[in-house]
Amino acid sequence: MIKISNLSKAFDGTKVLDNIDIEIKKGEIVAIIGPSGTGKSTLLRCLNFLETPDTGDFTVGELKINVQTIKAAQITQLRKQFAFVFQNYALFANLNARDNIAEALQTVYKQDKQGAHSKAMQILKDIGLENKALSFPSQLSGGQQQRIGIGRAMAYPSQAILFDEPTSALDPQWVDEVLGLIKKLANQQQTMLIVTHEMEFARDVADRIIFMSEGRIVEQGSPEQLFTNPKDPRTQQFLARAT
Ligand code: ATP
Ligand code: MG
Repeated sequence: MIKISNLSKAFDGTKVLDNIDIEIKKGEIVAIIGPSGTGKSTLLRCLNFLETPDTGDFTVGELKINVQTIKAAQITQLRKQFAFVFQNYALFANLNARDNIAEALQTVYKQDKQGAHSKAMQILKDIGLENKALSFPSQLSGGQQQRIGIGRAMAYPSQAILFDEPTSALDPQWVDEVLGLIKKLANQQQTMLIVTHEMEFARDVADRIIFMSEGRIVEQGSPEQLFTNPKDPRTQQFLARAT
């Protein structure tokens, strides 16, 4: 279970996240939607301390932290709880597909090389890229690279996978294969928090949709509720433009 309370973050005196509260149950799939510049990426980055939040209390599995009193060792612990899938894949260009998945298993999760390689090969098989194990990112399509990015996140023993617009950097022809893989994970009850502008996909895959605007959660509910009966005018306006 993940519980985030009172998460706030300002850049240069401007509040970008304003008292965000989010709870995510084990196995739940939550999608975050909202206008550009509204703090969606900052929210995900704060969960992982890629940005340092100003305030907030996090409960993630067994780990309980307050962001103002957090110690370096707890940041390391926290980062292990979340696996991140980036918009631009963020693969290591100098490592092949297998090693992109195995690398952090060895360095962060302290698995031995053989164990990490065998886990990576098993994941490659799951994502249908077993035959690309020794290919480097530059030798793979955008869709294949992002599937490796997701495979890497799947390999980690984390509480949840965080996705930040996982398809927005892809050429249109690769979008479906990546969404298909995320859907497969959803069917396996993988806990996920997904920032996306793919409204149909969000509606299809998420248990709950959160609509954010100007650093706040404006409204949330089931896809059915939010898409067919949005209550807040800001949600209505956003959906009218986006769908
Ligand atoms: P998009 O849908 O375009 O990806 P977003 O909802 O993810 O937008 P964020 O990237 O979280 O929005 O940005 C929220 C606000 O914070 C923006 O005004 C942005 O300019 C600002 N911001 C983000 N990162 C930084 C930073 N490192 N330094 C200063 N300002 C930042
Ligand atoms: Mg963003």
